[in-house]
Amino acid sequence: MSGNAARLNAISSIVSAPDIVSGIDFVSSPTSSVWGDNVFSLNEMAKRLPKSTFKSLKKTITSGEQLDITTADAVAEAMKTWALGKGATHYAHVFYPLTGLTAEKHDSFFDPDGDGGTIATFAGSALIQGEPDGSSFPNGGIRQTFEARGYTIWDVTSPAYIIENVNGTTLCIPTAFVSWTGEALDKKTPVLRSMQALNKQTQRVLKFFGTDGPFVSATAGAEQEYFLIDNHFFYSRPDLLACGRALFGSPPPKGQEFDDHYFGAIPERVQAFMFEVERECFKLGIPSKTRHNEVAPGQFEIAPVFEYANVATDHQQMMMTILKKVATKYGMACLMHEKPFAGVNGSGKHVNFSMGSSAAGNLFDPGDTPAENAQFLVFCAAMISAVYKHAKLLRAVVASASNDHRLGANEAPPAIISIFLGAELNEIMEAIVNGGTVKSKKSSLSVGVDVLPPIPKHSGDRNRTSPMAFTGNRFEFRAVGSSQSIAGPMVALNTIMAEALDEAATMLEAADTGTPEKLGKAVAAYVKKIWTECSSVVFNGDGYSDDWHKEAERRGLPNLKTTADALGVYLDKTYTDLFEKYGVLSERELHSRYEVYAEQYIASVNVESNLVVEMAKTMIFPSAVRYQGELAGSLAALKAIGIEADHDTVLMVTGLIKDLQDSVAVLEDLKHKEHETDGVQAHSLFIKEKILPQMLVIREKVDALEGVVADNLWPLPTFQEMLTIK
Ligand code: ADP
Ligand code: MG
Repeated sequence: MSGNAARLNAISSIVSAPDIVSGIDFVSSPTSSVWGDNVFSLNEMAKRLPKSTFKSLKKTITSGEQLDITTADAVAEAMKTWALGKGATHYAHVFYPLTGLTAEKHDSFFDPDGDGGTIATFAGSALIQGEPDGSSFPNGGIRQTFEARGYTIWDVTSPAYIIENVNGTTLCIPTAFVSWTGEALDKKTPVLRSMQALNKQTQRVLKFFGTDGPFVSATAGAEQEYFLIDNHFFYSRPDLLACGRALFGSPPPKGQEFDDHYFGAIPERVQAFMFEVERECFKLGIPSKTRHNEVAPGQFEIAPVFEYANVATDHQQMMMTILKKVATKYGMACLMHEKPFAGVNGSGKHVNFSMGSSAAGNLFDPGDTPAENAQFLVFCAAMISAVYKHAKLLRAVVASASNDHRLGANEAPPAIISIFLGAELNEIMEAIVNGGTVKSKKSSLSVGVDVLPPIPKHSGDRNRTSPMAFTGNRFEFRAVGSSQSIAGPMVALNTIMAEALDEAATMLEAADTGTPEKLGKAVAAYVKKIWTECSSVVFNGDGYSDDWHKEAERRGLPNLKTTADALGVYLDKTYTDLFEKYGVLSERELHSRYEVYAEQYIASVNVESNLVVEMAKTMIFPSAVRYQGELAGSLAALKAIGIEADHDTVLMVTGLIKDLQDSVAVLEDLKHKEHETDGVQAHSLFIKEKILPQMLVIREKVDALEGVVADNLWPLPTFQEMLTIK
């Protein structure tokens, strides 16, 4: 079958596809009734464990201490019984290597009993520690192969769960993955360490407000954007299959200009898919909450209710797996790439970030009482200072080859990290620093740290272009890419907040805070200091505009446009010091991350550039030549009957074919030179400066050909088809 036939067959298969039939009886078994069914939750443990064991487990969960082996044995036994009751035959230690993916090693519960039968065993030691052969996971030089041992260690703070398959179920145990020397080889370990660091510094500040004590945890709610396209199209595009994005193709004639997709009616098949995704999430205790169409045609969003950072991180990863798996069931591919279709809106993962405890409440909530107001101002100022000081780090943790097509490219938010406060909060900060009044709806308030006018939660000026926007009771980190794990962003936010709160606590501890008035003065002094030093990072305007780029440069804010520019941040001494000081990552661990992420950048672009060459030669060139032949043939036929027709089109096609061949030859040449670069840093820069731009040159030729070659000869499903045929 020639390429174009595959494309046309894809369309007719979709058009004639039978209606979707669901196997779920949602009336007798509503989704609400399956909530947490597959989670070994605290409730489940309380039911199944002796009181004393449950108590000691709970203590471990809140304190983060190691589980003693007697408790572990009892928990393992109860977990096994529960899992077998759910049809499980195997258990798996699930971990999160630096690839950003999820890894798991399955072991059977069943052993031969020596008498010809089997016996199900699961010891505490097998629950708390596993030893996968981790040598093939990227480690950035931490492990030599001769010391390849890596261990997985149960994260007691994240519950175990059951994953279903049509032919069986598996008990999954969330774990941290470390080398035999205890170094973090994964994304979870630093999240847990950074949560400890954040709690420690927060407690010092909360002492002044009498709200210290219970563990303060970072909270995260990640809004996930994604595209859905029919599998027939997906499988006829090698670029989508191998890279997750279209390397060629022009924007559809009907794009976003009518704004008719955003929040529009959800197509039937997509709706069915969403129902099932939510059901799967619910079974696993993932609090999926909102769903809607996104801005671009074919683009959608799902968002859960926020949870503690480490659980939210695990759940976010599980949610991506569920989205992909369920999409396949409905004959679709779920694209999580940040920019699958050039010229069409890309996908992000907006990470809503806050922190709180049972005693202190949500620390980014301005509150109603004077004490709450003052407490809020300390935390808000700390956030401003953290983002100001570590804008580069926040850029680095969202850097990837795919996210580069959003950030710094033609899309909001820009690669410049700034913070949006909104007019009200900005005015309040100014008034505190300069002394003054703020007009609220009812009156004019003389603003102090203990009197804040109400700050609207969803004010009209909600900013959609800011990479870090205050939204009334949390900050929304919008620069995170749709395909990324939220672990890196969480680690960065927790650690830079820990440092900022360390500074705040040190200042308050040195001040006289004996009375509420004196404490108010000390808080005002801290806020004033931060505002004076750091308010250049505050930007309430349009982050999308060219003016902002100029203005940001004038303010001296960093603008690290690509991954090649941003990843070097991991090697800065500032960051080795910061992460070591708060016990989050050692120098070796941090540098290993640089190595792994730079290699990933190189590897992803390498796959793309290989494919650009291959598709140009084996798909685009042949179709263009066929069309050229058709044109030449008809000109010759016309000439034979004495008609001299216009040669313009055939000349143009011939020119484009020549340009295509030339530009492919240039890329091939560059790809040879690429391997002569010395080290990952030089290699990354070569990719950014030479390879990626040349891929774009080729794309221009291909897209121009797409606009002239006869439709029935074009081999690749078009954006129009992929985005609108459901
Ligand atoms: P919008 O699209 O208006 O930004 P959504 O409802 O799609 O809002 O998503 C908002 C996200 O913010 C949800 O995941 C929500 O649970 C989360 N969120 C709300 N409060 C907090 C908080 N205190 N900490 C972290 N995330 C929060
Ligand atoms: Mg949203």
